[in-house]
Amino acid sequence: MVYEAEFICAFCGELNTTTVDATEDAHQQYVEDCQVCCRPNLLDIQLSEDRESVTVDALMD
Ligand SMILES: [Zn+2]
Repeated sequence: MVYEAEFICAFCGELNTTTVDATEDAHQQYVEDCQVCCRPNLLDIQLSEDRESVTVDALMD
């Protein structure tokens, strides 16, 4: 199961989309470059216990 999730770039504030693999750990962190300004966002992914919703926080790497 793969979710599409949105996050706000920590650098330029633009909306980005990413995909989250819900078969991985409930808590994940990885770096994804902003689709607008290309700077690296550290994404903090938290899946709910039932894996039905996902929260994404973007931090400056
Ligand atoms: Zn950006």
